Amino acid sequence: MAKTYDHYNEEAVMEYLGEGLKDLKRLTRLLEWRIPCQIHFRNLNFDSYHVFYNPVQEFNRDLSIAVLSVFAKEQPQSRKGLKRSRHGSTKDGKATTGATLPNSREEGISIFEALAATGLRSVRYALEVPGVREIVANDLSYQAVESIEDNVKHNKVERIVRTSHSDASLSMYLAKSDNKLFDAVDLDPYGCPSRFLDSTVQVLEEGGLALVTATDLAVLAGNSPETCYSKYGAICLRSPACHEMALRIVLQCIESHANRYGKYIVPLLSISADFYVRVFVRIFTSPASCKQSTSKLSHVFQCVGCKCMTLHPLGVTNLREKKPPSYSLPRLPELSKCPHCDHSYQMGGPVWSGPLHDPAFITKLLELIESSSEKFNTSKRMLGMLSVAKNELLTPFFYTIDAVCSIVHCVSIPLLTFRSALSNAGFKVSETHAAPNSVKTNAPAEVIWDIVRTWVKNGHPVSEKRINESDVTKRILEAPVRHDIRFEFNADADMDTEGLVRFQVNPAPYWGPGLRAKNNLVDGCATKEAKRKANQNKNKPPTVENAEPAKTDTE
Ligand SMILES: [Zn+2]
Repeated sequence: MAKTYDHYNEEAVMEYLGEGLKDLKRLTRLLEWRIPCQIHFRNLNFDSYHVFYNPVQEFNRDLSIAVLSVFAKEQPQSRKGLKRSRHGSTKDGKATTGATLPNSREEGISIFEALAATGLRSVRYALEVPGVREIVANDLSYQAVESIEDNVKHNKVERIVRTSHSDASLSMYLAKSDNKLFDAVDLDPYGCPSRFLDSTVQVLEEGGLALVTATDLAVLAGNSPETCYSKYGAICLRSPACHEMALRIVLQCIESHANRYGKYIVPLLSISADFYVRVFVRIFTSPASCKQSTSKLSHVFQCVGCKCMTLHPLGVTNLREKKPPSYSLPRLPELSKCPHCDHSYQMGGPVWSGPLHDPAFITKLLELIESSSEKFNTSKRMLGMLSVAKNELLTPFFYTIDAVCSIVHCVSIPLLTFRSALSNAGFKVSETHAAPNSVKTNAPAEVIWDIVRTWVKNGHPVSEKRINESDVTKRILEAPVRHDIRFEFNADADMDTEGLVRFQVNPAPYWGPGLRAKNNLVDGCATKEAKRKANQNKNKPPTVENAEPAKTDTE
């Protein structure tokens, strides 16, 4: 007898598939509750199905549909206002003729999905994004392309979606050599996207949109700075704000690829969610604007004792009236020892230190999602995330209160009290979408430690033993308070985001980036289940029972 599942999870789907595939509509509801398209599976068993599909990424797909819907309304208009010469340079604001835009067609946008796997995303784009003219769904795997073709036919979107069986980069280079540029390129690879970025920045129309996912957060968030440098050209640092650093490293990487062709990026939205980061950036051409890139990139200095961060830009842009800007190199400040705890610094980066989002674009996104929330199963979470992202301060990185208090071993300061103290001292505060119980502020680290010192003095003492155990705790708590710190409630610090959904509760057992398509599974692990179990606790030090040396995942 068929069972009803209120919430899908992979086990439920596997069980259902085991019963035999009788009702495609019902399976679709299980996989992605109410989506209007149907996903056709060639085989009845996930493990014998050699194509990558991750149901947990529904939020990512919903968000992409919303972003593309807003972008599709704007791109044809902005294309008209941008001029591209034969050499690729543009002059903003001048009207252009069709001849100067090699792929200029008035109706709708074109999308290239580089690693389409089941084709679910392309099918959803074709059915749900208004104003799409053409989608090319590409995959290197022949089995994946077969399944995309099935799904395209099944959902009757042959008029819009065309398949391509090729290496993604090669396919984009060939399209570029034929002058067939795309308005949007969707890159959602397993792991690191950087190998596809060179072709992506070249194949995009002027002002085109790159939708880029990176799922190798272990590398981006500080576990392996060496691997991070080899993949993204930047050193990551381990810190409570590591997910924002991951976003900024990915943006830096796209910017550096764009700069090679006289192009630069304008981020519309940069989201850290679950086990991945996803950035939506527009790419414009202007060798003159590329000179400003060094001012949008910074090295990050992190104190090894108190973990506070200082940013140092690679260059300085001096804006001048009625003249082009001039450029200079910044001087290094005295950074040999941290002024708060007397420890030394580690250097990371370079990272993107410009804005992560375009608030005007997020406002349009919010309007779209509010007016058509029935279209998206994850609309509540999208509204929650975007509302917070829209109001984030431009200051890079943030403080996590638990991490700050753990440095001096004091009782954690309530979030609203901490934010009120910053507002009362005259500084700006905001939340961040990237982590709960965190504060973005333009206050210098000295003010943060003044708040902690005052908190400890106001009835939250730290034991002598704790103070004497750590010289960092001792130095910070012994320093004098220099700012006027008051903890009374400040209305500016009340963000009123209660009830907004931002983080998902574990949706399925072993959820995460998923595994590569089965062709690439490691020998000896024939099933996903076996690989998952083999990977459990693999980085923990060996115990007596488990004396095998731990493997290091450099992927
Ligand atoms: Zn320090």
